[in-house]
Amino acid sequence: MQSLMVIPKTKKFELVQRSIPKVSGPDHVLIKVAYAGFYESDLQLLEKSTDEQKLMSFRHEITGIIVDIGNHVTLFKKGDEVVVGPNAGCGCCNFCRSGKPHFCSMENDSTIGIWATFIVAPVNRIHKVPENVSLQQVILAKHLSHLVNGWDIAGPITISMNILITGAGILGTLWACMLHHQGYRNVTISDDNQKKLNVLRKMNTGFSLITWDKLKENQKTTPNNYFDLVIESSGDPSVMELALSLLQKGGKLCCCQMASPNVECCMHPFEVFMRELSIFGVHENCFSFQMAIKLIGAMENRYLNYDSLKIKIFPLKQYQEAVEAIKRGTVSKVVFSLD
Ligand SMILES: [Zn+2]
Repeated sequence: MQSLMVIPKTKKFELVQRSIPKVSGPDHVLIKVAYAGFYESDLQLLEKSTDEQKLMSFRHEITGIIVDIGNHVTLFKKGDEVVVGPNAGCGCCNFCRSGKPHFCSMENDSTIGIWATFIVAPVNRIHKVPENVSLQQVILAKHLSHLVNGWDIAGPITISMNILITGAGILGTLWACMLHHQGYRNVTISDDNQKKLNVLRKMNTGFSLITWDKLKENQKTTPNNYFDLVIESSGDPSVMELALSLLQKGGKLCCCQMASPNVECCMHPFEVFMRELSIFGVHENCFSFQMAIKLIGAMENRYLNYDSLKIKIFPLKQYQEAVEAIKRGTVSKVVFSLD
């Protein structure tokens, strides 16, 4: 079978032929992969990480059909369409037992597979895909589970809130789509990349779409134009500093994007104290994954059409073109087709 691997020494991708894996445990299944996701932060991780194990284990956003099952598998059968979810944890540590398996102290997030035609996964990592959701669209479940987790952590998010989304990449765009779908209308999205803003412009949400400079200018000309909630999805520390200065008293800064591990930003503790600001990070959580799949079924093509979102499908063998497309910013996200 075909498999796209990262060679840790060179940090380059390489397409290799490997043998098809076998079901390795009684509670494991073999999946024939249909689609696998890949996006900008994968490239950032590739360029900045020195952890060889991490470089070897790109593994998220996988959908496909079960073709073999272990002896103890009862809830899934051959032919089921499934999507692979995030780490389900060890189930025993304090984090897992308090509903936060993404913090599992056992760090047992074993490599399910890299981008490959077949992968083996434990049943606690897979979710059935409902009939009204396609294998292609359910690739977005990882992003949306991140949003659902953010929704819970940042909540309550009331309809009267003045909301700012910083960064119009795929994550910021999906936040905008989800807020519009849920009935929110008082939303501003800021980014310097007009191509990214245009994706949202064509979706006719009616949201305010402005550049960073315009955002700063508005702050000066309209001094009371503060935001109750900022959804920070750029990962840029200077944007985080700007976002903090734009928060209303009692405002919340929800950091959704993975920033580079080496960057820092400046914060004024006096302001955080005086204005009772909340700053928190949001990660994916396997318990929000099921909700994300249902959300995909509800949002449908109005919000999750690949062409509208600038998501492009590439066959795995065209991985070099896919990487270039992400680097050039001509796509918001790449999905590999493995059929
Ligand atoms: Zn655990």
